[in-house]
Amino acid sequence: MDGIWQTIWDSFWIRALRDPFRYPVDFNERIFIGYLATSLILAVGVYIYLRRHKPDATPRGLFAFLFPKQVYLHKSAIADYKFFLVDRIVFVLMAPIALVYVEPLIGMTDALLTRVLGPVSSPWDPGSPWVMGLAMVSQILLVDFLLFYMHYLCHKLPLLWEFHKVHHSAEVMTPLTAYRMHPLEVVFNMNVTAIFTGLLLGLFGYLTNGGRPGFEILGINAIQFAFYVVGFNLRHSHVPLGYGSIVSQLLVSPWMHQVHHSRETRHLDMNMGFIFSFWDRMFGTLYVPGKDEADYALGLTTGEHVHFHGVLAMYFRPFANLARRWFKPAKAA
Ligand SMILES: [Zn+2]
Ligand SMILES: [Zn+2]
Repeated sequence: MDGIWQTIWDSFWIRALRDPFRYPVDFNERIFIGYLATSLILAVGVYIYLRRHKPDATPRGLFAFLFPKQVYLHKSAIADYKFFLVDRIVFVLMAPIALVYVEPLIGMTDALLTRVLGPVSSPWDPGSPWVMGLAMVSQILLVDFLLFYMHYLCHKLPLLWEFHKVHHSAEVMTPLTAYRMHPLEVVFNMNVTAIFTGLLLGLFGYLTNGGRPGFEILGINAIQFAFYVVGFNLRHSHVPLGYGSIVSQLLVSPWMHQVHHSRETRHLDMNMGFIFSFWDRMFGTLYVPGKDEADYALGLTTGEHVHFHGVLAMYFRPFANLARRWFKPAKAA
């Protein structure tokens, strides 16, 4: 197989099709068993903290706290499990699109910069720790900002909101709710981040005279890895793990993402960040939950979430809603 086909074949999306049981053992995946384990340890910590004044806390109480039936057997959670299974196939069919153009885009960016600015007189060494560190930090900041901004647009633009609603229709949250995303939203996110990552790699290619400083250590960006370790899976769960008021100015805690799913007016359209919360701060959408915010309902303010209990609805309801939205005014007139 030549270049691009080999890249597609080896991509982790195709590996998913070749090996569907890879999810729990691939640390590029959010539900990698190691991240689930650290999340579980943190959840036990939250239990101990919440029950610190109750000496009657028992192992049974702990289990009931970690895996409440009303969450894990809720219709919304069951819809998540079904959607996850079906959507892995849909995802694998769509994901490789970005891989086809990223390599040429990197080469074109490098060539264009060389033509416009001339070759760099003293190129950076792509293997030096500071160049690798700079590449890693700039990539994560770029991708994290893009994810924030696309999420922001999903909340602000009615067309995108129809698709993003699928994610917000969850009435309870389990780690698999992270995968409850309409495929068009996923494709949109993936292609925008792929294009900008390609441009960034092209820039580093130019600065290093054709080099490719790694964004990754052992196949994953170290910053993303660290973030996944500190309880990423709890952001879609009922466990209110906060990072404290100071760290929350820098990082999005699980609890901050949980209130992003809340139906309370004060929580609406807040905390749209993925890893870093300073984007939210810049856009005036940062909300650090206080101690008294344990009780709030999740879902859509209109109550429409009850229509998202089926896999077909998750795929097609956004289109039906859009059609309704467009044809209604014409009828009224
Ligand atoms: Zn959202
Ligand atoms: Zn979410």
